[in-house]
Amino acid sequence: MTSTTGTVPRTRGTRPDTPLLIDTFGRTARDLRVSLTEKCSLRCTYCMPEEGLSPIPDDRRMTTDEVVRLVALGHRELGVHEVRFTGGEPLMRQDLERIIAGTRAACPDLPIAMTSNGVGLEHRIGGLVEAGLDRINISLDTVNRAEFAELTRRDRLPSVIRGVRAAVAAGLDPVKVNAVPMRATLPGAPDLLEWALSEGVQLRFIEEMPLDADNTWSRVEMVTAAEVLDSLGTRFDLIPASRDDPSAPAELWEVAGHTRSGGAPATVGVIATVTRNFCAACDRTRLTAEGTVRSCLFSDAETDVLGVLRSGAPDEEVADVWRGAMWGKQAGHGIGGTAFHRPKRSMGAIGG
Ligand code: SAM
Ligand code: SF4
Repeated sequence: MTSTTGTVPRTRGTRPDTPLLIDTFGRTARDLRVSLTEKCSLRCTYCMPEEGLSPIPDDRRMTTDEVVRLVALGHRELGVHEVRFTGGEPLMRQDLERIIAGTRAACPDLPIAMTSNGVGLEHRIGGLVEAGLDRINISLDTVNRAEFAELTRRDRLPSVIRGVRAAVAAGLDPVKVNAVPMRATLPGAPDLLEWALSEGVQLRFIEEMPLDADNTWSRVEMVTAAEVLDSLGTRFDLIPASRDDPSAPAELWEVAGHTRSGGAPATVGVIATVTRNFCAACDRTRLTAEGTVRSCLFSDAETDVLGVLRSGAPDEEVADVWRGAMWGKQAGHGIGGTAFHRPKRSMGAIGG
């Protein structure tokens, strides 16, 4: 049984007989993002509405075992080579340690990452690493407490900073810090980099996309990667750095005169999701918290693989439905084009 919500994916030609998650534009998806919940401890203005997202009924959210089974199936049957747990806020799930431990047991070689806002992380990081967490990205847009409270609608900066330090102390390396630059926080970008350098974490700025729940994003108002680099350039000398993986979205810059522990040059990343999109090299496949496959952040088409799994279908059948969903992946986000439509779901509901 396949149920598809939103626009039905375009299918062109016959899908070649391969186990991998390929699409009609020649891309192969190997990087799996799994949203675990719609709940969150913050309310970032570029992501969530003030009142939070509408709750998903508990019986529609993937259980611990269902998450593990779908990730394992993606790895074993579909060529997924990395999983990242996200949300909403993954720490809102009390079973996160069990999800990670189950994934690790089912897929001993699969790198397991998570993206978190860092609130309360200090109390969980030991258990998460013990369960098998390999990498973490923590989102933090400013180290100014008043600005943080304004942007996230919660006064939780001290907790996030303790979370970042706990992740470093737990031995995760590199700890990456993601920042979405906004007009109000742009002048503080050099302070944020200064702080990241002093904490030994790698800072990456990611352009704001039209995925806010309040529908206030504007191409004119959004802060571009070029503006971030100009702002950083007022305090730092940035030198273009070579990248291990040229298809990776982050453009990396070495920060002259700064090194990481171990002596390698410190770097800062800028991800120009809007002004220089990397859709042609996209290798992502996404599962929402309700177990639907989303082939692109910007497509409303979702295919209900959890429903197929719950109907008692064998793994091979679930895998084939997943392949079909990815075959219909659109070419790119099209932001700025005349045909661009904002997706119905905001970032926190899809999983960033
Ligand atoms: N709650 C976790 C967090 O904030 O890290 C995980 C989920 S959050 C949706 C994942 C990432 O999406 C975060 O780094 C966040 O900054 C980013 N994000 C949210 N809304 C965005 C938007 N409109 N444009 C670009 N990035 C966005
Ligand atoms: Fe929550 Fe993350 Fe969205 Fe902020 S970006 S509201 S922390 S889900």
